Amino acid sequence: MLPAVPSLPGHAGGPGHAGGPNPETYARSSASRLAAAVRGGQLDAAAVVEAALAAAAAQQARLNAFITITSDLARERAAESAAGRRGPLAGVPVVIKDNLCVAGARTTAGSRLLETFAPPYSATVVERLLDAGAIPIAKANMDEFGMGSTNENSAFGPVLNPHSSAHVAGGSSGGSAAAVAAGVVPLALGSDTGGSVRLPAAFCGVVGFKPTYGSLSRYGLIAYASSLDQVGILAREVGDLRLAFEVMSGVDPRDATSFGEREALGAADGHEATAGDAPERQWRVGVIDELSGEGISRASLAALERAEEVLRAAGVEVVRVSLASVRHAVAAYYLIATAEASSNLARYDGTSYGARVAADAAEGQEAVMTRTRGESFGPEVRRRILMGSFALSAGYYDAYYGRALKVRRLVAAELNRALGEVDALLSPTATGSAYRLGEKLADPVSMYVGDVATCLANLAGLPAISLPAGEDDAGLPVGVQLMGAVNADKELLALATHFEAAQASMSSRG
Ligand code: GLN
Repeated sequence: MLPAVPSLPGHAGGPGHAGGPNPETYARSSASRLAAAVRGGQLDAAAVVEAALAAAAAQQARLNAFITITSDLARERAAESAAGRRGPLAGVPVVIKDNLCVAGARTTAGSRLLETFAPPYSATVVERLLDAGAIPIAKANMDEFGMGSTNENSAFGPVLNPHSSAHVAGGSSGGSAAAVAAGVVPLALGSDTGGSVRLPAAFCGVVGFKPTYGSLSRYGLIAYASSLDQVGILAREVGDLRLAFEVMSGVDPRDATSFGEREALGAADGHEATAGDAPERQWRVGVIDELSGEGISRASLAALERAEEVLRAAGVEVVRVSLASVRHAVAAYYLIATAEASSNLARYDGTSYGARVAADAAEGQEAVMTRTRGESFGPEVRRRILMGSFALSAGYYDAYYGRALKVRRLVAAELNRALGEVDALLSPTATGSAYRLGEKLADPVSMYVGDVATCLANLAGLPAISLPAGEDDAGLPVGVQLMGAVNADKELLALATHFEAAQASMSSRG
């Protein structure tokens, strides 16, 4: 096992205390404490950025977590910051998944087809994060267009797990998760269509949050499957998830599916995540029967059991819940996701933008298109376009796509009913710990079924969070998932904070 470098947080030292974050220890600090130190003048944003860029370069050699390190942009922003920049994320170095547009930075979505694409605008979530003072230091490696659970479908090579170079970081937001786990940044953005934030979070031992569909704008997120896609957040502490969520959420006129109030940034300076502001309340959590037995590894089941104990010890009532539709969810998810992908990816025609593979002039536009798509998309993307086009084709539409939509409604109805009885649903995040490199390449279906717990939240538009919950025998992290009711994101984060605090106090007691 390679150790995660540098070692991970703890709640040691805040700004103003001796031993508060400094450029050498910034990586062990939470985003909120780091920002407070920058605002208070104890820490210089430019020095933090230099330290983060150095860490990014060192970890890149080991993990391949980044597609582009945005040194110039980061230094420019840090200089502005030194000139008096404030905000809830003042001076916090962040990593952005490479399917989120950052103006002027190369944005590839992990694809050869967009290898040289530099968008002229930033995604709304990126803009809002930067307005809050964050400094983007790198674009994170990812499965091509978000298609995968291992990050091995990236045109830029796989991301290795910071805990073991023989294992994957998970996908598709593998670079974001590895960067946070390895201590390069305290906060990263990812995207989650069927689990792509939560799965790598679980594999790398960090927290990952997919909010309610529509609560974060998708403007500037390169589309995979639009009715399932949602921007997500990765961090080492739940408080940082909440901070970033508050900064980015709220309606965006450029995304018609977005909704919600914009939080005022004015309160920024006093804006600090505190573990204790969850109101005292009686929580009730349901453990999903269908995800606590067959098909789940011994280590994941043990982690689930420990998580139940932690919750009970924290005064949470834990009950069992049965959801019969769970066993159809993966099939419905892959039909809907691929159908939407086949339509979304039609825009890469070799003409509008991105790669263009020339054909003989005499062969015409269709040959250019065919050759560009055939040579620039990776095998998993081509497989999914074929699958999705088939599911949507005349004669098969009702049998496949139409039925998948019905199953989706069933899954959503069942989850919503259950979430009327309990505050959250608990399950393992993944069926086990991180896959070995190459393990899933020959048999993609065995990779697809690993999304069984995570894809539920996307099918129903629900918020869900993955939390570290111990390790397997080899020392690889395992995670558990808490899934909440639609639009109950703040409550879910409060419950996760409650769990996190209880877990910390139990492990400090031994
Ligand atoms: N593993 C799932 C897929 O490949 C989820 C990916 C994602 O959430 N972007 O579709």
